[in-house]
Amino acid sequence: MKFCSDCGAPVEFRIPPGDALPRHVCDSCGTIHYQNPKLVVGALPEWGERILLCKRAIEPCYGKWTLPAGFMENNETTAQAAARETLEEACARIELGEMYTLIDVPHISQVHIVYRARLLDLDFRPGVESLEVALFDETEIPWDEIAFRTIALTLRHFFDDRRTRSWSFHRSSIGPPAKP
Ligand SMILES: [Zn+2]
Repeated sequence: MKFCSDCGAPVEFRIPPGDALPRHVCDSCGTIHYQNPKLVVGALPEWGERILLCKRAIEPCYGKWTLPAGFMENNETTAQAAARETLEEACARIELGEMYTLIDVPHISQVHIVYRARLLDLDFRPGVESLEVALFDETEIPWDEIAFRTIALTLRHFFDDRRTRSWSFHRSSIGPPAKP
């Protein structure tokens, strides 16, 4: 950030009095521009034995598969965000279930949350951010083509829980990807 989004004056990056971390500070209007982690919220829509995945039409990870998910908007609940993203990316209507995974991703300052969900009908199609939307059973999951590690982890929990018929909420955190 170089300029104040409130008044347009140049900002300085420094530790404000009484604070512990450097912030973008506007000395013109006095605003301190805090930057905080972002929430990414999605759904894991089920249709019988199969689950719905979207093939991404945008970067990052263009062409890879993911659950419908995206950045939470202001003034909505996490549940609303999950349903909205599913409608936007897969044009699919769902009945939302329980919150299923919450994964901290501190190296990129994000928290990823996925809800379980039941697909209400088969009238889905790719939204503008998707190339393709399809249902997969466990044997068909393109594990090497999953866009994000948090999504792959959520899918692994799902199939493990389904196999053992012991559903629970999974909270974890992941670090930076290992260097190749
Ligand atoms: Zn300002």
